[in-house]
Amino acid sequence: MNVIPRDQHCISRKNISDGALKVMSRLRSQGHQAYLVGGAVRDLLLGGHPKDFDVATDATPEDIHGLFRNSRIIGRRFRIVHVRFGREIIEVTTFRGHHESGDERSPAKGGNHSRQSDKGLLLRDNVYGTLEEDAVRRDLTVNALYYDSGKFEVFDQVKGLQDLQARLVRIIGDPAQRYREDPVRMLRVVRFGAKLGFDIEKRTAQAIPACAPLLGEIPPARLFDEFLKLFLSGHASATLEALLRHDLLPYLFDETSHVLHDDDRDLALVRAAMANTDQRIAEDKPVTPAFLLAALLWPVARRAATHLENQGEPPMVAMHNAAQQTIGEACQQIAIPRRFSQPMREIWEFQLRLQRKQGKKAAELVDHRRFRAAYDFLLLREQAGEETHGLGEWWTQYQTLPMEERLSAAPAEKEGEGAGG
Ligand code: ATP
Ligand code: MG
Repeated sequence: MNVIPRDQHCISRKNISDGALKVMSRLRSQGHQAYLVGGAVRDLLLGGHPKDFDVATDATPEDIHGLFRNSRIIGRRFRIVHVRFGREIIEVTTFRGHHESGDERSPAKGGNHSRQSDKGLLLRDNVYGTLEEDAVRRDLTVNALYYDSGKFEVFDQVKGLQDLQARLVRIIGDPAQRYREDPVRMLRVVRFGAKLGFDIEKRTAQAIPACAPLLGEIPPARLFDEFLKLFLSGHASATLEALLRHDLLPYLFDETSHVLHDDDRDLALVRAAMANTDQRIAEDKPVTPAFLLAALLWPVARRAATHLENQGEPPMVAMHNAAQQTIGEACQQIAIPRRFSQPMREIWEFQLRLQRKQGKKAAELVDHRRFRAAYDFLLLREQAGEETHGLGEWWTQYQTLPMEERLSAAPAEKEGEGAGG
């Protein structure tokens, strides 16, 4: 174990939240070990400001819960404790150990605190252990650094500091085995590479193609959680490129990844949506997954709508049914909650309604709660090269008109082709 003393690293307690410091000193005062770990240590060493703080300790979840009134034990597959301080939640995790050995404090003696499927997938991981064991079960070397806020020392069991300096994302241990235990680690590799701007170490990358199909076994709800982290953390553009490079997009959006190969404009649309999201996050503007999902699945929905129209369905009905079908299929892979799929559907259907440019109708549409998102989406389609016959420009102009002129605004030109194109 490599121990880095306080004068040889840049972590200062000033940049650690009071909540995290309190949790650690309380645990230490009760005779436990407690360290800051994971993303917070990584980001502090990189000079950034961590968004949340995770603590690792040798105390069991029950010990921890007993020490903090404001705490809750959560999770089954992986039990941890949430300690709440106002709006901040400190995630406190008991050191995990090796599955074969285990530790007598692990819950449910008799053996079901750890479970693995016949393919090597970790179904449950509640075997407790030591700091050294805890470090090697983490995903990336740069995520396995520990900080002792009492002695001001950094602990590095896996050469994480070297990788941090070399700006490398490296899986701890044998990549294929670690991906088999938890295939989501492949997405995490790509995500942290994109977020940190690090290269992916060669073996870490090389094991991905053979293991990627294992992502098909991940529950759709977990993939949706991961989707949010992939695309709503301010690095969606870089993340998308990395997913494409490592051919992982099919495991999140299979249909989309098929059609992206056929048409550059579809890829341009998805890229534009990512860039747009990143920019909004950089400017501290709100972002909704619905808009991003609308863009990711638009190429699929638009094709389906065209197909149904060719079979004789009226455009609005075709769009409605295409949306239904597209979202239904996507949800087999990634569980999109209704609160996002409903607005997506509305954004799509609005693309047709935006073609009605008569004054009175238009005035109503502008007041609709989904107008803003739908209008932004229209501009995005145009930016990506979709032909809409100047529809975006018309709406941009229309919104600058004074109220009384809006009602009498005449259609600028003949109706565009819109969603069919
Ligand atoms: P951020 O919160 O900035 O996205 P993080 O590194 O804190 O990054 P979390 O998802 O909060 O990421 O996880 C906390 C820590 O738990 C990680 O740093 C890593 O050490 C460990 N970890 C998380 N998920 C896994 C996993 N699937 N396999 C192994 N270790 C994991
Ligand atoms: Mg974290």
